[in-house]
Amino acid sequence: MSNFICNRCGGQLNNSEINKKATICHLCYSKARVERIQTAEFLNTNFEKTRSAKLFNKYVLYLKEIDISVETIRKHSGKVLKIFQIAEKEFIKLSDITENWLLNIIEKIRMLKLLNQVYSTFY
Ligand SMILES: [Zn+2]
Repeated sequence: MSNFICNRCGGQLNNSEINKKATICHLCYSKARVERIQTAEFLNTNFEKTRSAKLFNKYVLYLKEIDISVETIRKHSGKVLKIFQIAEKEFIKLSDITENWLLNIIEKIRMLKLLNQVYSTFY
């Protein structure tokens, strides 16, 4: 049974983790991921501007501070990272982030997803 134990916390792996041949449980995976997205290395490779990297890091810290689970932070961090990356290419001042701007970005991401679906259907 020792194979079905998380390498990090020693907790029992669930069936879906065992099926995926995971060596760590989903909670440890999420914790590791959330730690990783806060490292200087990750921030430097994913952002061009220090300001947006700092802002992204602040966002993660804020979620932790208000007790959002690492699972939820991990689930949303990918999308949020994309939004911040688009943001740093588009904005000049932080005050440029308005509701309309955000809706615009969400629309762009939606269109990109649709385009990807169209491409994967035809090619
Ligand atoms: Zn674990």
